[in-house]
Amino acid sequence: MPVNENVYHQLKAELDERGVTLLAVSKTKPIADIEALYQLGQRDFAENYVQELVDKQPLLPPDIRWHFIGHLQRNKVKYIASFCHLIQGVDSLSLLQEINKQAQKHQRVIEVLLQVHIASEETKFGLSEQEVFSILAQVPLYPHVRIIGLMGMASFTDNTKQVQSEFLHLRSIFDKAREQFSEPSLRVLSMGMSGDYQLAIDCGSTMVRVGSLLFGARS
Ligand SMILES: *Cc1c(COP(=O)(O)O)cnc(C)c1O
Repeated sequence: MPVNENVYHQLKAELDERGVTLLAVSKTKPIADIEALYQLGQRDFAENYVQELVDKQPLLPPDIRWHFIGHLQRNKVKYIASFCHLIQGVDSLSLLQEINKQAQKHQRVIEVLLQVHIASEETKFGLSEQEVFSILAQVPLYPHVRIIGLMGMASFTDNTKQVQSEFLHLRSIFDKAREQFSEPSLRVLSMGMSGDYQLAIDCGSTMVRVGSLLFGARS
Protein backbone atom coordinates (compact mmCIF):
# COMPACT_ATOMS: atom_id res chain seq x y z
CA MET A 1 0.00 0.00 0.00
CA PRO A 2 1.41 3.44 -0.90
CA VAL A 3 1.84 6.13 1.71
CA ASN A 4 -1.35 8.03 2.42
CA GLU A 5 -0.50 11.69 1.87
CA ASN A 6 -3.63 13.10 3.50
CA VAL A 7 -3.22 10.99 6.59
CA TYR A 8 0.38 12.18 6.91
CA HIS A 9 -0.44 15.87 6.62
CA GLN A 10 -3.36 15.60 9.03
CA LEU A 11 -1.36 13.67 11.58
CA LYS A 12 1.62 16.01 11.25
CA ALA A 13 -0.58 19.08 11.75
CA GLU A 14 -2.26 17.52 14.78
CA LEU A 15 1.09 16.63 16.35
CA ASP A 16 2.73 19.98 15.52
CA GLU A 17 -0.11 21.76 17.26
CA ARG A 18 0.56 19.75 20.40
CA GLY A 19 4.35 19.99 20.17
CA VAL A 20 4.77 16.25 19.66
CA THR A 21 7.46 14.69 17.43
CA LEU A 22 6.30 12.23 14.79
CA LEU A 23 8.49 9.19 14.35
CA ALA A 24 7.61 7.19 11.22
CA VAL A 25 8.09 3.47 11.88
CA SER A 26 9.20 2.02 8.55
CA LYS A 27 10.03 -1.57 9.55
CA THR A 28 9.25 -4.09 6.80
CA LYS A 29 8.36 -1.24 4.40
CA PRO A 30 10.16 -0.76 1.08
CA ILE A 31 12.58 2.06 0.25
CA ALA A 32 10.03 3.62 -2.11
CA ASP A 33 7.54 4.13 0.72
CA ILE A 34 10.17 5.77 2.91
CA GLU A 35 11.21 8.03 0.05
CA ALA A 36 7.59 9.02 -0.53
CA LEU A 37 7.21 10.12 3.08
CA TYR A 38 10.59 11.85 2.95
CA GLN A 39 9.38 13.84 -0.05
CA LEU A 40 6.46 15.06 2.07
CA GLY A 41 8.95 16.42 4.59
CA GLN A 42 9.30 13.60 7.12
CA ARG A 43 12.84 13.21 8.50
CA ASP A 44 12.56 10.98 11.59
CA PHE A 45 12.25 7.29 10.76
CA ALA A 46 12.52 4.21 12.96
CA GLU A 47 13.48 0.60 12.41
CA ASN A 48 13.32 -2.46 14.68
CA TYR A 49 15.89 -4.77 13.14
CA VAL A 50 19.60 -4.01 12.82
CA GLN A 51 20.08 -5.80 9.51
CA GLU A 52 17.13 -4.04 7.93
CA LEU A 53 18.32 -0.64 9.15
CA VAL A 54 21.85 -1.28 7.92
CA ASP A 55 20.52 -2.33 4.51
CA LYS A 56 18.21 0.67 4.11
CA GLN A 57 20.29 3.50 5.52
CA PRO A 58 22.84 3.84 2.64
CA LEU A 59 20.05 3.80 0.05
CA LEU A 60 18.25 6.79 1.52
CA PRO A 61 19.02 10.50 1.96
CA PRO A 62 21.75 11.24 4.51
CA ASP A 63 19.69 13.80 6.41
CA ILE A 64 17.22 11.18 7.65
CA ARG A 65 17.39 10.83 11.42
CA TRP A 66 17.34 7.08 12.08
CA HIS A 67 15.94 5.84 15.36
CA PHE A 68 16.35 2.31 16.59
CA ILE A 69 13.27 1.12 18.47
CA GLY A 70 13.72 -2.64 18.61
CA HIS A 71 15.43 -4.89 21.09
CA LEU A 72 19.12 -4.25 20.51
CA GLN A 73 21.64 -6.99 21.15
CA ARG A 74 24.99 -5.82 22.45
CA ASN A 75 26.97 -7.51 19.69
CA LYS A 76 25.03 -5.54 17.05
CA VAL A 77 25.55 -2.04 18.41
CA LYS A 78 28.70 -1.71 16.29
CA TYR A 79 26.70 -1.89 13.06
CA ILE A 80 24.60 1.19 13.79
CA ALA A 81 26.91 3.25 16.02
CA SER A 82 28.30 5.39 13.22
CA PHE A 83 25.00 6.89 12.14
CA CYS A 84 22.09 6.11 14.47
CA HIS A 85 20.41 9.29 15.74
CA LEU A 86 18.57 7.93 18.77
CA ILE A 87 18.61 4.42 20.27
CA GLN A 88 15.29 4.07 22.05
CA GLY A 89 15.31 0.61 23.53
CA VAL A 90 18.10 0.72 26.10
CA ASP A 91 17.04 -1.87 28.63
CA SER A 92 20.23 -2.78 30.48
CA LEU A 93 23.38 -1.19 31.84
CA SER A 94 25.52 -3.55 29.79
CA LEU A 95 23.86 -2.34 26.58
CA LEU A 96 24.46 1.26 27.62
CA GLN A 97 28.13 0.43 28.27
CA GLU A 98 28.47 -1.11 24.82
CA ILE A 99 26.85 1.91 23.15
CA ASN A 100 29.28 4.13 25.04
CA LYS A 101 32.21 2.04 23.81
CA GLN A 102 31.11 2.03 20.17
CA ALA A 103 30.22 5.72 20.22
CA GLN A 104 33.69 6.49 21.51
CA LYS A 105 35.21 4.60 18.57
CA HIS A 106 33.29 6.87 16.24
CA GLN A 107 34.03 9.96 18.33
CA ARG A 108 30.34 10.53 18.84
CA VAL A 109 27.93 11.03 21.66
CA ILE A 110 24.90 8.82 20.98
CA GLU A 111 21.58 9.90 22.42
CA VAL A 112 19.46 7.14 23.93
CA LEU A 113 16.16 6.56 25.70
CA LEU A 114 15.80 4.08 28.53
CA GLN A 115 13.02 1.60 27.87
CA VAL A 116 10.74 1.09 30.84
CA HIS A 117 8.61 -1.99 31.32
CA ILE A 118 5.06 -0.71 31.76
CA ALA A 119 2.96 -3.45 30.13
CA SER A 120 1.37 -6.33 31.96
CA GLU A 121 2.83 -8.83 29.47
CA GLU A 122 5.95 -10.62 30.63
CA THR A 123 7.41 -10.63 27.16
CA LYS A 124 7.90 -6.91 26.65
CA PHE A 125 11.41 -5.71 27.34
CA GLY A 126 12.24 -2.90 29.66
CA LEU A 127 13.63 -1.70 32.95
CA SER A 128 11.89 -1.39 36.28
CA GLU A 129 11.58 2.05 37.84
CA GLN A 130 14.35 1.19 40.27
CA GLU A 131 16.69 0.17 37.44
CA VAL A 132 15.97 3.42 35.60
CA PHE A 133 17.11 5.44 38.60
CA SER A 134 20.13 3.25 39.14
CA ILE A 135 21.27 3.74 35.52
CA LEU A 136 20.60 7.47 35.59
CA ALA A 137 22.83 7.74 38.64
CA GLN A 138 25.70 6.03 36.80
CA VAL A 139 25.49 7.92 33.54
CA PRO A 140 28.39 10.32 34.30
CA LEU A 141 30.65 7.27 33.89
CA TYR A 142 29.64 6.99 30.23
CA PRO A 143 30.43 10.27 28.48
CA HIS A 144 29.66 8.96 24.99
CA VAL A 145 26.00 8.32 25.69
CA ARG A 146 23.42 10.90 26.58
CA ILE A 147 20.16 9.73 28.09
CA ILE A 148 17.55 12.19 26.89
CA GLY A 149 14.38 10.46 28.02
CA LEU A 150 12.27 7.36 28.43
CA MET A 151 10.37 5.05 26.12
CA GLY A 152 7.64 2.53 26.82
CA MET A 153 5.09 0.25 25.21
CA ALA A 154 1.68 -0.30 26.70
CA SER A 155 -0.04 -3.67 26.85
CA PHE A 156 -1.60 -5.00 23.67
CA THR A 157 -5.22 -4.71 24.74
CA ASP A 158 -8.48 -2.93 23.91
CA ASN A 159 -8.77 -1.92 27.54
CA THR A 160 -8.28 1.84 27.29
CA LYS A 161 -8.26 2.31 31.05
CA GLN A 162 -5.38 -0.10 31.41
CA VAL A 163 -3.37 1.49 28.60
CA GLN A 164 -4.01 4.91 30.10
CA SER A 165 -2.82 3.83 33.52
CA GLU A 166 0.34 2.34 31.99
CA PHE A 167 1.07 5.58 30.12
CA LEU A 168 0.44 7.63 33.25
CA HIS A 169 2.76 5.34 35.17
CA LEU A 170 5.55 5.99 32.66
CA ARG A 171 4.82 9.70 32.78
CA SER A 172 5.16 9.71 36.57
CA ILE A 173 8.56 7.98 36.36
CA PHE A 174 9.60 10.55 33.74
CA ASP A 175 8.52 13.46 35.95
CA LYS A 176 10.28 12.02 38.97
CA ALA A 177 13.47 11.42 36.97
CA ARG A 178 13.39 14.97 35.65
CA GLU A 179 13.15 16.33 39.17
CA GLN A 180 15.96 14.18 40.44
CA PHE A 181 18.39 14.50 37.52
CA SER A 182 18.79 17.99 36.16
CA GLU A 183 21.75 16.80 34.10
CA PRO A 184 21.53 15.15 31.60
CA SER A 185 18.36 16.90 30.65
CA LEU A 186 15.52 14.50 30.06
CA ARG A 187 13.18 15.87 27.45
CA VAL A 188 11.77 12.98 25.41
CA LEU A 189 8.92 10.74 26.50
CA SER A 190 8.39 8.26 23.66
CA MET A 191 5.05 6.53 23.99
CA GLY A 192 2.08 5.89 21.73
CA MET A 193 1.68 4.05 18.42
CA SER A 194 -0.92 4.06 15.62
CA GLY A 195 -3.70 2.74 17.82
CA ASP A 196 -3.12 4.74 20.97
CA TYR A 197 -1.12 7.85 20.12
CA GLN A 198 -3.88 10.30 21.08
CA LEU A 199 -4.26 8.72 24.48
CA ALA A 200 -0.48 8.75 24.88
CA ILE A 201 -0.33 12.47 24.10
CA ASP A 202 -3.09 13.16 26.62
CA CYS A 203 -0.86 11.33 29.12
CA GLY A 204 2.19 13.49 28.33
CA SER A 205 3.95 11.84 25.37
CA THR A 206 6.39 14.06 23.46
CA MET A 207 7.16 11.56 20.68
CA VAL A 208 4.84 9.06 19.02
CA ARG A 209 6.01 6.06 16.99
CA VAL A 210 3.58 5.56 14.14
CA GLY A 211 3.84 2.78 11.56
CA SER A 212 0.69 1.22 10.16
CA LEU A 213 -1.37 4.42 10.20
CA LEU A 214 1.14 5.99 7.78
CA PHE A 215 2.37 3.03 5.75
CA GLY A 216 -0.56 0.63 5.93
CA ALA A 217 -0.73 -2.65 7.78
CA ARG A 218 2.39 -4.83 7.86
CA SER A 219 2.04 -8.26 6.34
C1 LIG B 1 6.15 -1.51 15.23
C2 LIG B 1 6.34 -0.58 16.37
C3 LIG B 1 5.65 0.64 16.42
C4 LIG B 1 4.61 1.07 15.40
O1 LIG B 1 3.46 0.31 15.49
P1 LIG B 1 2.13 0.71 14.67
O2 LIG B 1 1.05 0.09 15.45
O3 LIG B 1 2.29 0.15 13.31
O4 LIG B 1 2.05 2.20 14.66
C5 LIG B 1 5.92 1.48 17.48
N1 LIG B 1 6.82 1.17 18.44
C6 LIG B 1 7.50 0.01 18.42
C7 LIG B 1 8.48 -0.27 19.49
C8 LIG B 1 7.26 -0.90 17.39
O5 LIG B 1 7.94 -2.06 17.40
